Order: sequence, then structure tokens, then C-alpha cells
Amino acid sequence: MRAFAIPMRTRFRGLTRREGALIHGPAGWGEFSPFAEYGPAEAARWLAAAREAAFTGFPAPLRDRIPVNVTVPATDAGHAWRITAEGGCRTAKVKVAEKGQSEADDLARVEAVRDAIGPDGKVRIDVNGGWDVDQAVRMIRLLNRFDLEYVEQPCATVEELAAVRRRVEVPIAADESIRRAEDPFRVVAAEAADIAVLKVQPLGGVAPALEIAAAIGLPVVVSSAVETSVGLAAGLALAAALPELPYACGLATLSLLEGDVTGDPLVVEDGEIAVRRPEVDLAALARHQVDPAAWRRRAEEAERA
Ligand SMILES: [Mg+2]
Repeated sequence: MRAFAIPMRTRFRGLTRREGALIHGPAGWGEFSPFAEYGPAEAARWLAAAREAAFTGFPAPLRDRIPVNVTVPATDAGHAWRITAEGGCRTAKVKVAEKGQSEADDLARVEAVRDAIGPDGKVRIDVNGGWDVDQAVRMIRLLNRFDLEYVEQPCATVEELAAVRRRVEVPIAADESIRRAEDPFRVVAAEAADIAVLKVQPLGGVAPALEIAAAIGLPVVVSSAVETSVGLAAGLALAAALPELPYACGLATLSLLEGDVTGDPLVVEDGEIAVRRPEVDLAALARHQVDPAAWRRRAEEAERA
């Protein structure tokens, strides 16, 4: 097992470094990078995903390129315009409802992104659970003047998502409401979302995520857990194996990190990422490598959970 700590270009979940471990097996490299606050039971799923990548391999792909979205952080309108234009994607995901900002900031940012991506591009917003039901309904109606593809996690709870969904036309996607393998079924039972955002590591691997996608019957957007190219390759494998992929995926996250563990990173070309599994490059890894002892302990605890 090898461990890494890579500085983040943009703070994410309050993190300034993305940390995790890599394991190697006959099928290739796997990434084990549960966030620090996750206990052993939750980390066990992340470990299962890493083991699948290292020892089992991924289901057969049905496509070889995955369309992805550029992510626009809660920044000023001018900066948001530039990020969208330089992102080179046909879909943009705009973060809104940032603490300390106003509704006018959100309107200006989404307007700038719509202008930068043009009338044929797609614009989705990600609220990260930041609104209550009434504010969500009001803001979605206001922001839909810029033609929203969908709204990701407008409120914190499944019940609130369902309430918003009954009152607006714009499709609702569940992200934070899906953090464990049983969650997507709760979302479906409550009729809380039109779209499920699925991540490979929290769901225990590509094959389990594929089974969940088939069982819930909602269109899926595959998203990363802000991983290195090793973890992203598993996300690409899921997106490549889904029977249908109607939306661009949230896998263009490598640019949030200041480095990678491969010499051949999974970067965006023409709004897409090619489906492949880059080899870990030991020289690239060496720049970010840390003592794996703590990660070994975490994996052992996860195994016993
Ligand atoms: Mg999200």
C-alpha cells in the first residue's frame, strides 16, 4: 500500500490536501480515499471499491469517451465566465447558495455562465443542500430564466427534495442524499429526485454501483469523490458501463488537485474524458507520497467493521 497527500488548488469540504492510499493487484491500481470523518463501516465500502479495481477489474465498457461538466465555484460573475469559457465543456455546473453571498450573486453567476456557454450549452446548478423548501422553489423559478438542465440537492433532506420536486418543473438531482448503498432506494421511495448522482467509492465499487443504478431506474450522473486519476478511472468505468448516459458526468475534478499519481492524467479533451486506466507513475507519486501506516490501520479497521 502506498499513501499520498496532494495539495488542493481550491478548498473543498474544508480540505487543503486530498489524502488517500493506493493498492496494487493483478487487475491494476485501486484508490482508497475515504474522507477523514468516515468511520470504519463507511470506509469498508471505499475499501471494497479499491479492491475491485486492484483484484477484480471493471465491467465491460459500452462507450470509450465520457462527456463531463466544468464546475464553476461560488466566485464572482467575471471569474465564472472565464472558468466556463476556458473549461471547454458543453455542460457547466454552477455552485450557488454559498454562505455569506446573496441571491443576486447567484443570479449574476448563473447569467454569466449561460452567456459563456452559449444557448446550446447546458447549465445545471448545485445547491449542496443550502436552501429551505420555499427559498428553493423561488430561486429555481428565478434562475430557470437561464434555462436550467437540473438542480442538484436544493435542500438538505430527502423529504425537502420531494417537496421541492412537487412544486417546480426543473428536474431535481440527489447528491448528498446518496452517500451509502441504501440511500438511492430511499430517494426513489420518496419520489425525491429525477436523477441520481452516484459515486463509485461510497457505493463499494463499479459493479455494485451498476447494480444500484439498474435497481433504482433513475438516470445517473457519475461524479467523483475528488480523486486522483486512479479513483477517477473507476468513475469513468461506471459511466462507460451504464446502459444509458443522458447527462455529462462530474469527473473533471483532477484540476482541483495540484498534482496526480500518474504521468498520464485523466484530463478533459473537447468536453470529454477518454475511458482508460492510467498506470501509477512512481516518480509522480513520489512528489506526494506519505507514510502509509495510518492508511494501513484504517484499512484494517474497515476490514473488521
Ligand atoms: Mg453535488
